[in-house]
Amino acid sequence: EEEKRKYVKGKKLGEGTYANVYLGHSRQDPAVLVAIKKIKVQKEYKDGLAPDAVRELKHLQELHHPNIISLLSVFSSKDQNLNLVLEYLPLGDLEMLIRDVDRVRYGAADIKAWMGMLTRAVWFCHDNYVLHRDIKPNNLLIAADGEVKLADFGLARSFADPGRKMTANVITRWYRPPELLFGARHYSGAVDVWSVGLVFAELIIRAPFLPGNSEVEQIALICRQIGTPTEENWPGVTQLKEYTVPSDTVAVWGKEAYMGRFGAVGAEGVDLLIKTLVLDPKKRITAREMLEHKWWRTDPKPTRKEELPRKS
Ligand code: ADP
Repeated sequence: EEEKRKYVKGKKLGEGTYANVYLGHSRQDPAVLVAIKKIKVQKEYKDGLAPDAVRELKHLQELHHPNIISLLSVFSSKDQNLNLVLEYLPLGDLEMLIRDVDRVRYGAADIKAWMGMLTRAVWFCHDNYVLHRDIKPNNLLIAADGEVKLADFGLARSFADPGRKMTANVITRWYRPPELLFGARHYSGAVDVWSVGLVFAELIIRAPFLPGNSEVEQIALICRQIGTPTEENWPGVTQLKEYTVPSDTVAVWGKEAYMGRFGAVGAEGVDLLIKTLVLDPKKRITAREMLEHKWWRTDPKPTRKEELPRKS
């Protein structure tokens, strides 16, 4: 109740699938603008779920990093709906920039800056035992100074408990890794790294790389564009509960194939991209290893955040 009284709710900013978002400000300092995200909680879950979710989200309040949206407060309102008070980020998201091909131009140095911010955010989450589990361009919001901030931790869960089984039905389909598509119940930070790889690919080609219309089609796209998961490249994969692949096995594509389509970020950039899109999650690069990659130090230098392209 005290948390709720700290903020004043204003006009509606937008509506998402699971939430209505309102502009708000601090009662104490009206200059501090916030976004209040009111999660639609289904009736049948209203008793019990909201308090649980509040507890789950409390630890996200401790996650402080320049590339992670600040969660200022969490409270459940009298109708049992869940309210998240977030840092207000009015400049849209990365998806808007990627899609606005006619008006927004950007190059390798800009992609390197955005990818650096995203990778640092993901590394910080994983270092703090948090999986994001829904990384996509539309969840990368842009601050007034150009900083990209990872948002929408709606699905985030701590993975501190390694024995804990988790649901496989997470991550927007296009960004979902093969281990989740095959129904793996024990998964790791590698799921986020796969999504980061697909954001990287999408920044380069300015279109989703693997836009499957169904889970079956998603698996088929991965097999055709990246390679078919087999016991040879991923020991144990055929034992996963929902393992099925098209019968025409495709060998994992080599660097030359990627250079043709993604060469705009140079040979080192393509090397990093390939390492994020390794089929076997155990062999996939980690966020920490990504930060040590040569690409960041290869020319061109990443664009300074204040100089990054923004929506017009
Ligand atoms: P979606 O992910 O479907 O866009 P959201 O519920 O995350 O839905 O957000 C709905 C809309 O509210 C967004 O499109 C955006 O315009 C706005 N919004 C969300 N979060 C913020 C924020 N932190 N600052 C400013 N606007 C926001």
